[in-house]
Amino acid sequence: MSAGGFTSVNTGTAVDGNVLLVGEARAESAMDAAACIGCGACVAACKNASAMLFVSAKVMHLAQLPQGEPERKTRAVNMVAQMDKEGFGSCSNTGACEAACPKEISVKHIAKLSREILKSKACS
Ligand code: SF4
Repeated sequence: MSAGGFTSVNTGTAVDGNVLLVGEARAESAMDAAACIGCGACVAACKNASAMLFVSAKVMHLAQLPQGEPERKTRAVNMVAQMDKEGFGSCSNTGACEAACPKEISVKHIAKLSREILKSKACS
């Protein structure tokens, strides 16, 4: 989380919901990702001990909201680099993580994370 799973800008107090315009589908997806409680069940269930579901949930929560925009280009790359540094395995798309997740975090977030990384690298 310290590699980028936060916003370092002062977002102030909660503003009126109608001020920050976020489409319904985007808001729903961000809130689905935000449901991750960091329990680690996904990592424990994965034969590769991959943390991709957890990392993708944290990245995609912020990437889909205006508050996450300022650090969006570095967050995905930094968090995946930290995950690799800490020795977590690679994702091989078995879906065991999604099946074990108590918050029903979807593996769709992993695909979205991959797109975030591609976009970040293309823009750097
Ligand atoms: S199992 Fe689900 S809630 Fe727990 S850390 Fe993984 S993605 Fe988050």
